[in-house]
Amino acid sequence: MRRLLLWMAGNRWLRGRIPRLWFARRAVRRFMPGEDAAAALAAGQQFQVQGISTLFTRLGENVATAGEADAVAEHYLGLLDDIAARKLDGEVSVKLTQLGLDLDVDATLERASRLAGKSAETGRTLWLDMEGSAYVETTVTFYERLKAASPNTGLCLQAYLRRTAADIQRLLPHAPEIRLVKGAYAEPASIAYQRKTEVDSNFVALSVATLEAQRAGKRVRIGLGTHDVRLIEQIAAHAAAMGLPKTTFEVQMLYGIRMDQQRRLAAEGYLVSSQGAPTRVAAFVGTLRRAMREAAAARTA
Ligand SMILES: Cc1cc2nc3c(=O)[nH]c(=O)nc-3n(C[C@H](O)[C@H](O)[C@H](O)COP(=O)(O)OP(=O)(O)OC[C@H]3O[C@@H](n4cnc5c(N)ncnc54)[C@H](O)[C@@H]3O)c2cc1C
Repeated sequence: MRRLLLWMAGNRWLRGRIPRLWFARRAVRRFMPGEDAAAALAAGQQFQVQGISTLFTRLGENVATAGEADAVAEHYLGLLDDIAARKLDGEVSVKLTQLGLDLDVDATLERASRLAGKSAETGRTLWLDMEGSAYVETTVTFYERLKAASPNTGLCLQAYLRRTAADIQRLLPHAPEIRLVKGAYAEPASIAYQRKTEVDSNFVALSVATLEAQRAGKRVRIGLGTHDVRLIEQIAAHAAAMGLPKTTFEVQMLYGIRMDQQRRLAAEGYLVSSQGAPTRVAAFVGTLRRAMREAAAARTA
């Protein structure tokens, strides 16, 4: 479903047509609580009562103009104000291509720095999503530049990529905040593990490497971005064997997926956050509707 949503969000043709399809509406209802930021924020408040924090994301990738990238940045700045005003335990995660990475790296850095600055006002982290392999090196280098000026920033890394072990070692001197995921894109065998067992083993090995770095006194925040409770339990067992507390890592899942497990893990004392499928979905539908309106206006013009 995550892959499907990612693909749909990046497809301009579908963006204009999908709101009419019943199955899309059903998927959206399950994975997103509403069609606007207010619904996302309300969902975040409900999670907070259950001890679950929220990562808000606006769905979409690859803007075509600087104006669109500015509008995305403004959306997130407003959202960060709303999160702070409601005293929500929430952070924001952005896709760099949505902030204009394809158009101008320096302008994208400027936009991301503004979001990081706003997040820092209330002690929050700004997260960067990781996109397809064509963007990985650019994104890691971008993160190094952003982190140097804005320490309160985190990066998603993908366990299916063979390079990720080296990326973690590369970032460790910078006190990184890392969200480890399995990876959502179709990547070739030359750069990515293909079998689920290989990806899972690498996910555990990379998590254990960051736990060992923590035990060695290095500052590294690690979020396990997976619904794979079996893997989370393996990693928790490694942490316990190393004498590290339950709060040594965070569990990050998507909205609407394995909510029972999210609640159980939070009740057991693990740090759990539900990724902003709230805003993700809300913004996704909003974007589709806007695209349809624009297409209709263009037809009548
Ligand atoms: C918080 C978060 C942020 C992410 N950010 C990124 C990103 O920036 N870049 C990126 O490439 N990818 C990202 N992903 C997606 C990630 O790469 C995976 O594609 C996605 O999480 C599915 O893999 P999995 O770890 O859940 O494991 P899987 O092997 O797909 O699933 C493991 C188990 O989880 C359960 N499960 C999985 N999906 C469902 C479901 N829909 N319903 C019920 N149970 C389910 C099942 O029990 C399944 O056996 C993110 C994922 C999360 C959770």
